[in-house]
Amino acid sequence: MQSRFCCPRCGEALTPWVRRLELAEAVNLHDSHTWVLPSGWFVRRDSGLLPAPHLSERPANYPWVFAPMSKWWLGVHSDPRRTVGCCGLASYGPELPNLVCACGQEVGLGYRDCLGPYWYSLHESVVHEQEVDPDPPRGIAERLARLRERVAGPIARMGYDPGGRHASHQHDPPSWDATLRLAEVTLDCGGGVDEPALVIESQQLPAGAQLVVPLPWCQLVRLAALGEQPWAETESPLTWKHERRGGPRVCVSRRKRRVLLTAWGPGSASWAVTIAVRAWADAWARLAG
Ligand SMILES: [Zn+2]
Ligand SMILES: [Zn+2]
Repeated sequence: MQSRFCCPRCGEALTPWVRRLELAEAVNLHDSHTWVLPSGWFVRRDSGLLPAPHLSERPANYPWVFAPMSKWWLGVHSDPRRTVGCCGLASYGPELPNLVCACGQEVGLGYRDCLGPYWYSLHESVVHEQEVDPDPPRGIAERLARLRERVAGPIARMGYDPGGRHASHQHDPPSWDATLRLAEVTLDCGGGVDEPALVIESQQLPAGAQLVVPLPWCQLVRLAALGEQPWAETESPLTWKHERRGGPRVCVSRRKRRVLLTAWGPGSASWAVTIAVRAWADAWARLAG
């Protein structure tokens, strides 16, 4: 089955068609600056997939949990007292919903601030539509098994620093032009399940150089085994951080035909590149096999 969720007042869709997630390895309960779930999937709050206390304490009348969505689906409330955090969208509890339908109806809670994973949730009053999935995902277990084998390999070389550190997702489109542009890329992964990293090779990098991008295993599972879209929109980029391993905060957003990939930290280390959208999508499809 697939589901979508609609406004209880005007009936407009608040989400695209999404699938109920059953793969615990794709859930992120701990890492800050990382989505709780892959986009395109949802879970019920009382599902066994969300056992951590800070997630299960989420109010019972907001039972549907998602990855952050773009403003095309859900708008952010106009009252800053409900939304302003220290670096992103904050949530001040069930009495002060901060996500709204285009018609103005208050329908959800969203969180994209510092502590813990990023999530959106929808109120119990939203209309839950279901229909038979016309194209159910196949081969997830096989892709996961291949990915597990592949990630077990070592990462041989140090990562290259391509510069471009001042590039900005939201505020400064010209800053994208100051980054190294990759017209084609190939992806590999390694480092083991506990400390995985993505390895990006490209003809546009100096000979022998490669970009090394640490990521949590759940994120690799989403992108390679579940086929999550490997970017989001600039207002709320796809983002991840392997907190326990002190990895960089990585953000990927799309503008027209390019994606911007930024890696910030640890410490003052940071860099950015832009990649042709098609090349980035194809490279993920090849990695997923
Ligand atoms: Zn509405
Ligand atoms: Zn913050």
